[in-house]
Amino acid sequence: MYSCINLHFTDFCNYHCKHCFVKKENYELSFDELKTIVDKIQKYFNANNIKGRINLAGGEPLMSRNIDKLIEYISSKNIDVSIITNGYYLDDEFIERHINQISTIGISVDSLDYDTNIKIGRCFKANVLSKEQLIHLCNKIRKSGIKLKINTCISKLNINENFNDFIYEVKPDRYKILQMSCDESDIRNRNNVVTDEEVKTFLSRIDYKYIYENAEEMKHSYIIIDSEGNIATDNSHASNISIFNYELEDAIQLLNVDYKNYIKRYV
Ligand code: SF4
Repeated sequence: MYSCINLHFTDFCNYHCKHCFVKKENYELSFDELKTIVDKIQKYFNANNIKGRINLAGGEPLMSRNIDKLIEYISSKNIDVSIITNGYYLDDEFIERHINQISTIGISVDSLDYDTNIKIGRCFKANVLSKEQLIHLCNKIRKSGIKLKINTCISKLNINENFNDFIYEVKPDRYKILQMSCDESDIRNRNNVVTDEEVKTFLSRIDYKYIYENAEEMKHSYIIIDSEGNIATDNSHASNISIFNYELEDAIQLLNVDYKNYIKRYV
């Protein structure tokens, strides 16, 4: 059974990371569509007696004008809400507003260095979240009782960076490191993919407890509903299985989910 559904409900993002796997089609589900999807997910969780979670992702979920009411709606259905954000629009007020509604806030942090962030594309115009701003947000999240997750995607652009000081300072409940993946056809970004050996060296420098997912393990091991309402194991917009035409249970049966790696992620 699947207890976490990733709702990539918007493609919009203010960043343009080189490793981004979101096909920027600039779709976003309407609030009515989102309510229908949440109801279907609730039905699936209830039928299977699961205390489930919806992970809100994008794109950048905080760019959506529906974000507050979406969180409220999911929470009112007694479903856990987590969110993964690049942090740019995250502020104290958002965290305070959702103290009793969000169980985990994940922030993607791929570098603490201005120039590296610019090279990766983790910037809005020339603006980058500073280390101090990130530390402030992380402390605010932890003090509010919401769990903190940090995601770091490693590529040739940040492979030599040492995150230990930052991670020790913010003490995330979960620190996830992902290997950058890239389509064979993506000639522009292929050179930024790190080898398993390089990853090993990177991981050997980390003192903090972490979870690592390599590019292979990530393939087909998510359940994603994308910004067009299609269900898939990735966010490539290649699926045409519309959640609006199926019950969630039936739609999942049509996917080829790598259950072993799915379970490994959520234990
Ligand atoms: S912040 Fe996330 S969604 Fe936005 S461009 Fe970067 S990887 Fe893609």
